[in-house]
Amino acid sequence: MALIKTKGLIIREQPYKEQDKILTIFTEDEGKIQCIARGVRRQKSGLLASTQIFAYSEFVYYPGKNFGIINQANLIEAFYPLRTDLTKMALASYLLDLMYNAYEFYQKSPEILKLLLHVLFYISGGKARNDLVLVGAFQMKLVSYLGYRPVLERCMVCQHDQDLTHFSIEQNGLVCRDCREQSPGYLYKLNPAMLELLRDFLKQPIKQLKDREIDPAEALKLSDLLDHYISCCIGKSSKAYAFYKTMLNP
Ligand SMILES: [Zn+2]
Repeated sequence: MALIKTKGLIIREQPYKEQDKILTIFTEDEGKIQCIARGVRRQKSGLLASTQIFAYSEFVYYPGKNFGIINQANLIEAFYPLRTDLTKMALASYLLDLMYNAYEFYQKSPEILKLLLHVLFYISGGKARNDLVLVGAFQMKLVSYLGYRPVLERCMVCQHDQDLTHFSIEQNGLVCRDCREQSPGYLYKLNPAMLELLRDFLKQPIKQLKDREIDPAEALKLSDLLDHYISCCIGKSSKAYAFYKTMLNP
């Protein structure tokens, strides 16, 4: 069997046998894969750092029917600060969870992987004014990339583009003040600043959004909205987001 070499981000890990791990890796070339990493829970393992959650490494592995077997792993970026700040860790874990839930095994998405690495880089390095703006941007860009771009230009009921005051999860987009009462399902109220940011999540690059200022409570509402929307679109919800929320209100 030929060895495969590819870069990837570890998005999930679970202990296996006495000293091994099963890793879920989102790789550049092979998409989402699962590999067994032998002996990496020993403190003396040379692969300890490169096979931890959040690690972005270059992997060499033997492909298998269900699991690959890691042969080599060279750490490229550990995103170390994510491990020492609980809030950042909770947010970053949520992003990994989204990535895990959004893709099937062997499904590839190098563009979204690249986006995620940029977001983790900024969050880990403390380079964003508000980490939640980057989380919101990732949520929006991911769900749009998956084919569920919400309609943010006009009312989903009457098609007018004025007085757009609510987001309807069920109707995949905005509804206006006059139509909100006849809209089924859950509605999120948006003020003009929130609506503008929601649109900018789609249009603006992460590099620009990292400097964006917003009321933290409004940023959180947008993340709530997008997490709810994503759960409905992909049919899976994230426990990591629920964990992040309980951390905010213990
Ligand atoms: Zn309307």
